[in-house]
Amino acid sequence: MAHSVAPPATGHAAPAPLPVRTVLPWAVLGGILMLVLLYFVGAEQGATALLSGTGVHEWVHDGRHLLGFPCH
Ligand SMILES: [Zn+2]
Repeated sequence: MAHSVAPPATGHAAPAPLPVRTVLPWAVLGGILMLVLLYFVGAEQGATALLSGTGVHEWVHDGRHLLGFPCH
C-alpha cells in the first residue's frame, strides 16, 4: 500500500519546543564534562597533579600550548 505525504499548507514546519526540564540536566552534564576536560588540558600535571607520571601531560601538551595555557 502506497502512502503519500502532502506538504504542509504553510510551507514551514515549526520545530517542536524543547522543555527546559529536559535540556537542563544534559546541559549541566555537558558543562561538567567540559570543565573536567578544561582541567586536564590546562592544569593536570602542570600546575597541579591528580595522577602520577607524565602521561596526561604528554597527551594534552600540544593542546595546552595551542590554547595558551602556561606549560614550561
Ligand atoms: Zn609545553
